Amino acid sequence: MTGWLTDQVAIVTGASAGIGRAVVDRYIAEGARGVVAVDRDAAGLEALSAAHGDRLRVVVGDVREWATHEAAVTAARTAYGRLDAAVGNAGVFDFHRPLAKYTPESLVSAMDELFAINVRGYLLLALAAREALAESRGSLVYTASVASQEAGGGGVLYVSSKHAVLGVIRRLAMEFAPDIRVNGVGPGGTLTQLRGTESLGQAQRSLGADREASAARIAPTNPLRLAQEPEDHAGLYVLLASRRDSRAMTGQVLYSDGGVGVRPIAAF
Ligand code: NAD
Repeated sequence: MTGWLTDQVAIVTGASAGIGRAVVDRYIAEGARGVVAVDRDAAGLEALSAAHGDRLRVVVGDVREWATHEAAVTAARTAYGRLDAAVGNAGVFDFHRPLAKYTPESLVSAMDELFAINVRGYLLLALAAREALAESRGSLVYTASVASQEAGGGGVLYVSSKHAVLGVIRRLAMEFAPDIRVNGVGPGGTLTQLRGTESLGQAQRSLGADREASAARIAPTNPLRLAQEPEDHAGLYVLLASRRDSRAMTGQVLYSDGGVGVRPIAAF
């Protein structure tokens, strides 16, 4: 049986861990010819490389830098001869920090860092991958978030950055049509080690450090009572990269959040 992505070539950013890693594993399981995995965590990429051999190339770099994306597109073309999908996924969190907890200085530095990763990194990927994706009539798939439409999905910087991702998806879907489709996946609370910013001294703090406590915190917030795993979302990235199965979709976000948007707002 052939996979959903037989012979296709993808780039995935933030590929060392969490949702990005689950997407890489799944793309390869679905028959991808090769994946270029991008991350600043070299050790994580090495482990991924050991698991996938020739079907994986790695680029160690920071998604805030143009050179990282340029190297990823070059690696896809050189190693595998084409590019069909580029997945923008690397991101950082703000641990629900409210505006009142910032000083003017800490707001500026944290916003510069968080938006540079969560938003600028996505635009740089699109700019670097545009030509190769237009040639293959491929697609961009971005990790949005439940915080792309819910105010309670993070602090003000994270929520506004993920709302901005929605704008990136919708605007680029318009700009890049008819050659490239642009869509997103919006996960809800997921058990990963999502980290914070250096500017706020939270680079080593991680969302899921205590798995059980995180699961207990996340599950009651959605109607399906799920604390999700990265693998719960991976199939949606496959679907959105598949020309056969999502040919007519662009400018959309598939929310994978246990139904946060349909929770009851009153007892009845
Ligand atoms: P994660 O920390 O497991 O994975 C993120 C990866 O991105 C890490 O490997 C990290 O090294 C990499 N990364 C971070 N900053 C980078 C940079 N500047 N340059 C290169 N690589 C960088 O966390 P995750 O939860 O899998 O996060 C993936 C995406 O999912 C993020 O965009 C996040 O906002 C989004 N998301 C997460 C959740 C959740 O609850 N975990 C929910 C919704 C959306």
